[in-house]
Amino acid sequence: MSTTKYIFVTGGVASSLGKGIIASSLAKLLQARGYKVTIQKLDPYINVDPGTLNPYEHGECYVTEDGAETDLDLGHYERFLNSPTSQANNVTTGRIYQSVINKERRGDYLGKTVQIIPHITDEIKRYIKYLGSKKKFDVVISEIGGTVGDIESLPYIEAVRQMKWELGTDALIIHLTLVPYLSASGELKTKPTQHSVKQLLENGVQPDVLVLRTEHKLTPDLKGKVALFCNVSKEAVIESIDVSTIYEVPIRMKDEKLDIIVLNKLGLPLGEEPDLINWNEFLYRYKNPKKEVTIALIGKYVELRDAYKSITEAIIHAGASNECKVRVEWIHSEKINEDNIEKRLKDCHGILIAPGFGHRGIEGKIIAAKYARELKIPFFGICLGMQIAVIEFARNILNLQGADSTEMNPSTEFPVIDLMDEQKGITDKGGTMRLGSYACNLKKDSGAYKAYGKSKISERHRHRYEFNNSFLPMIETAGMRATGFNPDTNLVEIIEIPEHPWYIGVQFHPEYSSTVLQPHPLFVAFIKAAIENSQKKSI
Ligand code: GLN
Repeated sequence: MSTTKYIFVTGGVASSLGKGIIASSLAKLLQARGYKVTIQKLDPYINVDPGTLNPYEHGECYVTEDGAETDLDLGHYERFLNSPTSQANNVTTGRIYQSVINKERRGDYLGKTVQIIPHITDEIKRYIKYLGSKKKFDVVISEIGGTVGDIESLPYIEAVRQMKWELGTDALIIHLTLVPYLSASGELKTKPTQHSVKQLLENGVQPDVLVLRTEHKLTPDLKGKVALFCNVSKEAVIESIDVSTIYEVPIRMKDEKLDIIVLNKLGLPLGEEPDLINWNEFLYRYKNPKKEVTIALIGKYVELRDAYKSITEAIIHAGASNECKVRVEWIHSEKINEDNIEKRLKDCHGILIAPGFGHRGIEGKIIAAKYARELKIPFFGICLGMQIAVIEFARNILNLQGADSTEMNPSTEFPVIDLMDEQKGITDKGGTMRLGSYACNLKKDSGAYKAYGKSKISERHRHRYEFNNSFLPMIETAGMRATGFNPDTNLVEIIEIPEHPWYIGVQFHPEYSSTVLQPHPLFVAFIKAAIENSQKKSI
């Protein structure tokens, strides 16, 4: 196929309607018909990336293989499409302005007045077209963050208007809105959708497809009314009804023929009937579990589920792979102490300590790691969770009183976790951590090797601190082993306790690379260990 087609997904009426899931589902269907598709998120905030954002503000920060700190929607894109995204898949207003201002300082604009139109909009268009031209995708789907009508989104909507004008039928606009249900009158209301489309029209953008989020089935009459008021053909008014799992949305969108409508409008051949056999198998296993386990997820943002999005999704993938329903017990690390630990964790079959930054909640996590080690409960420590396992072991087995990470206590006598050499002297916060994929070699007789089934792996990182190798001999003699190393720097990437049924800590983030069709091997092995533990418990 010669020209790349561009699809834009905008949102109206309310935020959090699931533009990312609709974009991912459409991409999945097009991919299943044989097209090369990618999805991009355009975020209208001024931070250059979400890396410096507090999870309370923006949920999890997702990390790509090439080390970009991105919006969590990129996690959905990868989990649905099973193919990696990159820095180019997430662009913020901050990044756009940064590059325009850099060009202005270099003199690239030759004395012109630099303005939102055309300079900012040109830069937005450049980022959108980049994926099509450089990466050779058949279809690029660009999801525009925020809601139509936000001041921040205006330059993006204007860029969409220009691209539609330039590209004609090679561009298509999907607008996602909400059809609220008024229980008092028992009615579904289309007025908010009409208003939101009017708002788009005021900006010169005519949507081609409307996806209506709803809690109740839409009647043909209602769809006809929306079509009439919004200049959209009737078959292009798509119902997106609430479903029990986001992974069902592609199936619903296929039933609604979203893929066929989009391909017809873009003038593309329908290709093969979408191959969703593996996807449906996953859904079947997910919906028909044969067993159930409870995993304690210990973190400090547990009131905000989005902060651990990739972890909870990786647990879902691994649960389905084990034909097991996994109940996640969210436990706030600041609320755990020696007195209540037994009560809080006794019904859990596995304990996962989440990544994190700063000292808040650390002591609770250390108590939980100790509990898991002593009671032989499957333990999975991720990034900070792995560092916690090392600190706990140093304090309680090696008896190094006050052992710590220098992140929490810079003057500790026993810095078992310490700042990486390359991090010393860095003061800027944005994009300065050890980020992205690094190679790791596994010891053949380890639990990690057993899970992966190979000795050379590559995993994504996001941290500043590391295992301090000067403590390695002492720690290994006492029964904790380092089983994964970076081949270039010798950094310890994985620790295990071989005497324990399943006790693994990883310095990297396996959750980022777990997908529906390729659940992450460590999560799969962890859930399997939790199942074995639950069977032991019930004997
Ligand atoms: N705060 C720790 C570090 O910077 C761990 C980071 C993480 O869990 N992502 O090394």
